[in-house]
Amino acid sequence: MAPGDTTVGSRPIACNTLTYVFARIGLLPLTGALARAPQLTHHFGMPRPCVICGSTETVRSHLLPAAFGRDLRGNGANFWIGSAERPGKTISQSGVFDEFLCNTHEAQIHDYENYAIEFIRDFSLSQAEIDARAFRRDGTDNESLIRFVCSVLWRFHHSARPEAQDVDLGEWEPNIRNVTFGGSVYQAPDVFMSAIHQAVLPKDAFMLSPAGGMQWGRRVIQFSLNGLAFNTKLDHGEWPSAIQGAVLNQTPNWLASGVHHWGKREWEGFKAAAVQMQTPKGGRKLEI
Ligand SMILES: [Zn+2]
Repeated sequence: MAPGDTTVGSRPIACNTLTYVFARIGLLPLTGALARAPQLTHHFGMPRPCVICGSTETVRSHLLPAAFGRDLRGNGANFWIGSAERPGKTISQSGVFDEFLCNTHEAQIHDYENYAIEFIRDFSLSQAEIDARAFRRDGTDNESLIRFVCSVLWRFHHSARPEAQDVDLGEWEPNIRNVTFGGSVYQAPDVFMSAIHQAVLPKDAFMLSPAGGMQWGRRVIQFSLNGLAFNTKLDHGEWPSAIQGAVLNQTPNWLASGVHHWGKREWEGFKAAAVQMQTPKGGRKLEI
């Protein structure tokens, strides 16, 4: 992709259906009533046998890696989870987790997850990249990134948690399951990654849970971690040719993509989520 190409970007929240915002407590634009002392709520699903092997010896699976939850907390003990689409909020210590995998299958995810976590945590944009609205990285392990993205989507697909309720991989579930648990990465759907530039929050102070939306006319499911947005294409149409280098499946050990400058529109979702977080659900404050 040519530097300066401004056609590549991402627009999380506003175009999506049901995104949950995971955000550090005390930061704009989540202020006002949200600043009151939070009460911790527990948020895990009902244990089920391992989806892969049927073992009843299940372990907790974080739907988004706990490492990002620790980053989100910052110096605080907890962080918020809320949605623009649903009233109420959750106060979380480590994130949302569920139980539907045995230890062996949960461990298979960790093999490549560690690389992805390190890559995502270490990723930052230079001023030149922000100005050019484009970046390139060499020596990347795109296979691990694709497997990681598949594993996040697969976990949300199978979780009974409210935060995962609208995530449905449909006909892609078998492929995404195979890629998550060591099958050929060539059966993965296309995953497009781009960077977000914004000056309102530290980049590790919020995450966006997977939600469906449209990107370049394609049906995608999108989530965001540490200033990176991951779009997975769930329909059979083609991406525009301008973004080929940003599709992780097409470049094994390098990637280039766009930097999307978040403006007023992108924060609308956060503001709407903040309003909903201040609305008790059914009188049961602080619970989803
Ligand atoms: Zn198992």
